[in-house]
Amino acid sequence: MGTRDCQHQIAMSSPAAGEAGATGDWRTERPVLDPALCLAQKQEKEACQLCWVYCPDLCIARGVPPAVLLTYCKGCGICAEVCPTDAIAMVPERESAAAAAGGAR
Ligand code: SF4
Ligand code: SF4
Repeated sequence: MGTRDCQHQIAMSSPAAGEAGATGDWRTERPVLDPALCLAQKQEKEACQLCWVYCPDLCIARGVPPAVLLTYCKGCGICAEVCPTDAIAMVPERESAAAAAGGAR
């Protein structure tokens, strides 16, 4: 992995397009958010946002509710683990694809 001249005075990373490509291709499970359980959605403001804070790949956009950006989400499950209301469930990709196809296998 290369380095970037990002002018930082201390060691830290910057958000950028993934050098390893679309890491979402590696995923075996995807996070599925239920807005009805999300604190931000319930309070109708950018409350909580812990999923955004803890996603190591910047794959969650802040919002009401937050949005998962699947192109780079590698399915680590950290967002589901930190969500205080279990609003995010990790669903196997195979089931997600079946659901998207109307339940067809
Ligand atoms: S961590 Fe859970 S409750 Fe908090 S904003 Fe994310 S989805 Fe909503
Ligand atoms: S925490 Fe992991 S599973 Fe959740 S959005 Fe980020 S990369 Fe995907």
